Amino acid sequence: MLNINQLTITLKDKLILDKLSLEIHPGEIHVIMGPNGSGKSTLAQVLAGNPIYNVSNGFVLFKGENLLNQKPELRSLNGLFLAFQSPVEISGLNNMYFLKSMLNAHRKFKNLSELDSIEFLTLIDLKIEQLKIEKSSLGRNFNNGFSGGEKKMNEMLQILLLEPDLIILDEIDSGLDIDALKLVMFNISSLLKKQKSFIIITHYTKVLEYIQPNFVHILSHGKIVKSGTREIAFQIEQVGYENIH
Ligand code: ADP
Ligand code: MG
Repeated sequence: MLNINQLTITLKDKLILDKLSLEIHPGEIHVIMGPNGSGKSTLAQVLAGNPIYNVSNGFVLFKGENLLNQKPELRSLNGLFLAFQSPVEISGLNNMYFLKSMLNAHRKFKNLSELDSIEFLTLIDLKIEQLKIEKSSLGRNFNNGFSGGEKKMNEMLQILLLEPDLIILDEIDSGLDIDALKLVMFNISSLLKKQKSFIIITHYTKVLEYIQPNFVHILSHGKIVKSGTREIAFQIEQVGYENIH
């Protein structure tokens, strides 16, 4: 699904990712943990196509194709999704209108017929029920005045609509109450059964109570310094990053 090879990223001469390599197969979950500023969000942003970062070395293959020369919108259409650590608010953009346009753009790309309003409403009703999202949030502007947790659930709603193949969750658990987190993790498990792949960036071991990751990677100063089972995460919770070797 994803092959990151010796990826080196700089921003204004500052080295942020340092020869990072990672391989993810369909249906795998990779959890990435690491101290603040270690480069976790940068990795997510670079994969999604944020143009501010410079790729100074390495390459990334997504479904066998060179990812880094694709525009962000093509990456999305090809099945890559990033749930932002801090989703933006867009005033003047109705949430329902955004979600419908997003889904129909993807359907069109796959040569499927676009959903009309009634078909879309039927589908979205089902999805917001799955996530216990309040229907009124659909009529509001995109993330405008949403709480931190509501913004994260709105990201999750996009995931349920699109069912992307590679889903990157940048601290989806930050800001979610325990019931919302359980719903998110339950839906992640359902997507795993469809062979979707996940990169889950987190600071907490809570998510590991609901899913069994294939790997936990520790990122430090832009390098993966340790990879292993979820035991690593529990170890870190006990002793902190400073004492991990
Ligand atoms: P993490 O998500 O692991 O906390 P980030 O990837 O956000 O870390 O940041 C890694 C490093 O790169 C930090 O030192 C951060 O300050 C720097 N960095 C990332 N994005 C930017 C940016 N847009 N402008 C300036 N510095 C940045
Ligand atoms: Mg971050």
